[in-house]
Amino acid sequence: PKRLLTPEKREEDVDASLRPQTLGDFVGQAAARENLKVFIEAAKTRREALDHVLFVGPPGLGKTTLAQIVSRELGVNFRATSGPVIAKAGDLAALLTNLEERDVLFIDEIHRLNPAVEEILYPAMEDYQLDLIIGEGPAARSVKIDLAKFTLVAATTRLGLLTTPLRDRFGIPVRLNFYTVDELEFIVRRGARIMGIGMTEEGANEIARRARGTPRIAGRLLRRVRDFALVAGKPEIDRQIADAALRRLEVDHAGLDQLDRRYLDVIALSFGGGPVGIETIAAALSEPRDAIEEIVEPYLIQQGFVQRTPRGRLLTPAAFKHMGLAVPAGREV
Ligand code: ADP
Repeated sequence: PKRLLTPEKREEDVDASLRPQTLGDFVGQAAARENLKVFIEAAKTRREALDHVLFVGPPGLGKTTLAQIVSRELGVNFRATSGPVIAKAGDLAALLTNLEERDVLFIDEIHRLNPAVEEILYPAMEDYQLDLIIGEGPAARSVKIDLAKFTLVAATTRLGLLTTPLRDRFGIPVRLNFYTVDELEFIVRRGARIMGIGMTEEGANEIARRARGTPRIAGRLLRRVRDFALVAGKPEIDRQIADAALRRLEVDHAGLDQLDRRYLDVIALSFGGGPVGIETIAAALSEPRDAIEEIVEPYLIQQGFVQRTPRGRLLTPAAFKHMGLAVPAGREV
């Protein structure tokens, strides 16, 4: 079944109207915004390309949005691709040779770049040069091509999967965190305004509290709640209609969806609350380990429901309480 709460991209998200267009419009991530603002201004003043930027954080927190904002604030072209799409070195070479001075090249999911492609990215990032091997065997020769001084803006959900040499080539690493309820409330109200929907403060708060700290999910919940309100003939979204809609969508009060609850259930009921290894959990849930580590766990850990220990995942007393289960003896602290 499709997860309503998956922070992964879907078609409906390509709703450009809700995307903030400037750093000033962008809510939350204050530290990241402040830093970017300074670096962008400095680069513009020096008339140089901005240093390469790496955005790190769970899906749906605004990495792509910020990349677009960076290029807009710099006043340069924005070209976008993603790690798995660049199959061969030649594909990346074609992208790089088409860039103009100071352009932004955005590579999403850079941790999924093929190693042969990564090799040619190093000199491109460092010296704005392409080292290509032309021909094969004894006739092979290497050619160097000068590139425009560009900015690579990359995004990853899994910093640990990046090789150290690649990581080291980003002058501006930026970590994005889950949003606070206040920030999400602001985003929901802004979204409702743009979509022309009536929304009370409590209605926005209810959606924000259940959006898993993630703007992409807030936007998606807003659209679903809007549908419920429309069908129920409600002129505006208040707490009651938001709550009723989210209940029907099986999003609980902490913003957890079915998969989150299945994850907690498995550890609590089948493994006595843990510690239990991630492979075992993945097998029990019949879900890929990657998806669990990338999408399910970060939020549950941030909410204090799960701990990663050297011996495996461990549920906290808060998790048992959230599920309405007794905290096992010896686990009360
Ligand atoms: P990521 O690249 O990290 O997966 P995106 O940049 O694609 O995330 O953002 C996901 C969605 O959330 C987009 O529709 C975007 O408009 C919205 N969004 C992200 N960050 C913000 C923000 N700070 N304020 C308002 N909307 C945001």
